[in-house]
Amino acid sequence: MAVQRTFSIIKPDATKRNLTGAINARIEAAGLRIVAQKRIHLTPAQVGVFYEVHKERPFYGELCEFMASEPVVVQVLEGEDAIAKYRGVMGATDPAEADAGTIRAEFAESKGENSVHGSDAPETAAVEIAYFFSGLELVG
Ligand code: ADP
Ligand code: MG
Repeated sequence: MAVQRTFSIIKPDATKRNLTGAINARIEAAGLRIVAQKRIHLTPAQVGVFYEVHKERPFYGELCEFMASEPVVVQVLEGEDAIAKYRGVMGATDPAEADAGTIRAEFAESKGENSVHGSDAPETAAVEIAYFFSGLELVG
């Protein structure tokens, strides 16, 4: 498998509980390198663009409000098979269904407030990285 980059967000429920370091420790222990990272406070409109694919879903408004409620940490992770690897480290969307030992099983509060985001495919990873970072900010 080739080296890939994926986009990650440490969500408001996690930043507000001081879990940034604990989550980063799991990312690094999995062999993923954090090649870009910043803490930002999004507006609901900025979240709305990021999650546009979900705009017809009933939870879209709630999701935009939640993601803008507190700061988030946005990141680019690099490694072998990084996209699928990080999805594995994250666990299933609903923490009740996430495998033991995953970030969501360990830390997530609910299906909505589930501590982390990770890209689901190479195309979405490229779009998501470009939304938050310039090329100069990616330091492999
Ligand atoms: P994932 O983040 O695992 O890729 P999705 O892309 O399906 O999951 O959904 C994006 C985000 O929307 C989820 O991480 C979660 O924060 C929120 N979400 C998804 N489904 C629900 C739901 N049924 N109720 C509330 N929030 C949800
Ligand atoms: Mg998704």
